[in-house]
Amino acid sequence: MEWKWTWPDLDVSPRLVETIRSLPVHRSVNHCGETFPISPFDIYADCPLCGVHFKVRSFAGVTELEDVFDAVFEWMSQPGAEELVRHRQQVIQQDRD
Ligand SMILES: [Zn+2]
Repeated sequence: MEWKWTWPDLDVSPRLVETIRSLPVHRSVNHCGETFPISPFDIYADCPLCGVHFKVRSFAGVTELEDVFDAVFEWMSQPGAEELVRHRQQVIQQDRD
């Protein structure tokens, strides 16, 4: 039997969409009394002062914003997806201008 994907009846909150749109390209982490920037998607960071490798993302069974991005990145890595993304980005850009 052929598996058919259907659009789910999801409640995606406008707040989630706005949060994704406004996500900074880096996040700040603290160690040794210093603040330094890392990728918002990094799971671990290395302290530039003491060199310790520490976890910055929790996996406490909660779905985080980064999980949404990871799902999108995963989707984007499949064959043919890149072209769709580029085309959509162009349309969004044109709508903005
Ligand atoms: Zn440190």
